Amino acid sequence: MYSPEEFRKEAHKLVDWIADYYTEIEKYPVKAAIKPGSVFAQIPAAPPEAPEEMDAIFKDFQDIILPGITHWQNPSFFAYFPANSSFPSLLGDFLSSALGAQCMKWETSPSATELEEAVMIWLRKMTGLPDSFTGVIQDTASTSTLAAIISARERATGFAVNNNGMTSVMRVYCSSEAHSSVEKAVKIAGIGKNNLVKIQTDDQFRMNPAELEKAITGDLKRGLLPVCVVAAIGTTGSTAVDPLQDIAEICSKHRVWLHVDAAFAGSALLLPEYRWIIKGVEKADSLVFNPHKWLFTNFDCSAYFVKDVETLIDTFKLIPEYLRTQIPEHVNDYSNWGIQLGRRFRALKLWFVIRSFGIKGLQNRLREQLSIASELKSWIEQSPEFEILAPVHFNLVCFRFHPAGIDGLDELNRINEKLMLEVNKTGKMYITHTKLNGIFTLRMITAQTNVQHHHVKNGWDLIVEKSKSVLN
Ligand code: PLP
Repeated sequence: MYSPEEFRKEAHKLVDWIADYYTEIEKYPVKAAIKPGSVFAQIPAAPPEAPEEMDAIFKDFQDIILPGITHWQNPSFFAYFPANSSFPSLLGDFLSSALGAQCMKWETSPSATELEEAVMIWLRKMTGLPDSFTGVIQDTASTSTLAAIISARERATGFAVNNNGMTSVMRVYCSSEAHSSVEKAVKIAGIGKNNLVKIQTDDQFRMNPAELEKAITGDLKRGLLPVCVVAAIGTTGSTAVDPLQDIAEICSKHRVWLHVDAAFAGSALLLPEYRWIIKGVEKADSLVFNPHKWLFTNFDCSAYFVKDVETLIDTFKLIPEYLRTQIPEHVNDYSNWGIQLGRRFRALKLWFVIRSFGIKGLQNRLREQLSIASELKSWIEQSPEFEILAPVHFNLVCFRFHPAGIDGLDELNRINEKLMLEVNKTGKMYITHTKLNGIFTLRMITAQTNVQHHHVKNGWDLIVEKSKSVLN
C-alpha cells in the first residue's frame, strides 16, 4: 500500500508526464495504428501475485498502452465529434477521483448534490434555455435520451408500464438522420425498434414536419400510442438542425413528449447568435447536450434538462430500506433522476471549467473554432475538385473529392474512402466519414479544445496532396 508520501512522489512524476504529454502531443500519431490484438497479447494472462513497482507499471503504460491510444486531445483530431478535455477540467476530475465520493444522494455528499444543482442553473442561464427547465448531469447523451423515452412512456400510460409491463404498442419518432442512441433507447425501453418511425428528411437532412404529422395521425388511426418525438439539433452525420418550432407544435397537439438531442451542437447555445437553433424549445419536454463533447469538459458529462421533474422522478424513484435517509424535503437525491444509483462527482470538473474559462473565454473559443470552420469551407468551395455536401451550421464540414470526369457514385465513394484512409495513415490528422444520400462523405470538424488555424490549414493541404494519388 502506498503511503501519502509515496503517493505525492508518484503523483508529481505523473503530473510532469501529463504536462509534457500535452506539450508534445502533436508528435504522436493522431490515430492509433496498431494491429488488432497486439495490446492484449502483451498483457500477461495472469495478474501478478506480488506487488509491482509503479515505475514498472508506468513503463508498461508507455510501451504497451500508449501506442494503442488515439489522441483525442491532439489539435489535429478532426474526427467524429470531439471528446474534449482541458486543464481546468483535468484538475477538477483529479479532485473528484481523489475524494472518491459516491454522490447518489444528498446525504452521501451534500456538496456534490448542491454544486450539481447550482452548476446546472448556471448552464441553463448560459445556454438561454427557459427557466421552466431543470438540469441534472447524466453520464452520456445516450442515457439522457433513454431517460427521456422512458419518462415519455410512463407519462403516456400513467406509470402503468413501470407497474405492469407493456400492454400497448407505442411509437417513437425521429428523423432518418437521428443518432443511433435513439434506436438503442427504444430497444431498451421495451418499445421495440420496429416501433421507431424514422421520418424522412429534406434536402438539408432536416426532419420533414409534414411527414411527422402524417406518421402520428396514421398511427393514432391504427390504435397505436405515439409517446415521444426526438428532434435533432445538430445531427451526427452533418449537424442538420430539425425545425423545432414546427415539430413542437405537432407534439403539443398530440400530447407527445418532445425530446431534443443537441448532444454536440448544444454548446453553440452559449453564443446568442446561435439561439435560433432552439426556437420553439419552450414547448419541448427535455433537451440534452454534452459538455464532454464541445465544452472542454472531460468525458463523461452530459447535461439533461427536463421540464417536468416530477415525472422524471416518479419514473425512476426507488427507495429500498437500506437507502432511506432522513433528509430535508427540499434537497435533491439525484439517483432518483435517472438510471444509475451510484454517481460520480461530475459537477466539480464542470464548475472548474466554467470558472476558469469564464463565459467570455468559452464564447471566444467557440467563436474561434466556428470561424476556422468557415475558412475551411471557403477553401473547399474555391477548390474545383472538391465539393461541400451539407450546409455548414457549426464547425463540421462535410465534403468530398470530386475530380473532373468522374461522376459514378461507386467510383467517387471508392476514391473518397481511399483518400480518408490515406490521410489518416499519415498519423498527422484524423478524419472520419458518413454517408449522406448514399454518398461517401468526408467529415472534418474543427472543435478540438486546442485547435488553431494552422492545424486545419495543414490538414486541408494534406487532403489536397493525398487527393492527387488516390486516382491511381
Ligand atoms: N446524439 C448525437 C447527436 C450524437 O452525435 C451522439 C454522439 O456523437 C450521441 C447522441 C451519443 O452521445 P453519448 O456518447 O454521450 O451517448
